Amino acid sequence: MIKVDHITKTFNGFTAVNDASLEIEKGEIVCLIGPSGSGKSTLIRCINGLEHPETGKVYIDGEELDPKSGNFAQIRRKMGFVFQHFNLFPNMTVLENLTLAPVKVLGKSQQEAEDVAMKYLQVVGLVEKKDEYPNKLSGGQKQRVAIARALCLEPEMMLFDEPTSALDPEMVLDVLNVMKELANEGMTMIVVTHEMGFAKTVANRVVFLEDGKIVEDTDAKTFYENPESDRAKDFLSKVM
Ligand code: ATP
Ligand code: MG
Repeated sequence: MIKVDHITKTFNGFTAVNDASLEIEKGEIVCLIGPSGSGKSTLIRCINGLEHPETGKVYIDGEELDPKSGNFAQIRRKMGFVFQHFNLFPNMTVLENLTLAPVKVLGKSQQEAEDVAMKYLQVVGLVEKKDEYPNKLSGGQKQRVAIARALCLEPEMMLFDEPTSALDPEMVLDVLNVMKELANEGMTMIVVTHEMGFAKTVANRVVFLEDGKIVEDTDAKTFYENPESDRAKDFLSKVM
């Protein structure tokens, strides 16, 4: 479903992602972990088409993700993306945040878009906030709205870049529970996270990055119980 084929991404001569390859099948929950600056965000942004690798290719359902190609936007639409800092539109209500793209991008009617939006607000437990503006919501509520907004585009897979790291501790669980529910329903997910509990219990696979390189790609149980590389052992000893 997702194939990352030897991609390298540099910024002004600095290599942020170094010859990374990865294949993700439908229904897999893959956690990307690694130290700060190891290239997790750059890798997930390359998968989503927000960054473009200089060498190597990303394929989604067998189609190359190429900004110069006519189907670039269409392929990107298969992926919902949730950011650390929510990125909600501040001047729009929750419902408007959720219906904008389905109307403008998918060409749904307003009514249709609202029906879908209400369905996903239910999923994230925020139906009663539909007419609020984002600045009236807690961080955890904002993030759940952001997840609902991504789901309104009916993506085939969801990508999360540290969705809980900007949240107060008491909000983290609400967001993780929504993500767990998605995972249980079979959503394909890539999650950059420092939440080791989530990675341990929900992920099928852990991909560990260091200095832009994938140094370990293994099932979650093996990663936590018996990591191969010294780098991963050292990392785990600091975070667990
Ligand atoms: P963190 O856990 O802190 O979010 P990360 O693993 O997500 O880190 P990246 O954000 O992918 O790391 O960054 C990898 C490296 O690439 C870092 O050294 C970073 O400074 C650099 N980098 C990332 N984005 C840019 C950019 N737009 N311009 C210049 N350098 C960048
Ligand atoms: Mg990052």
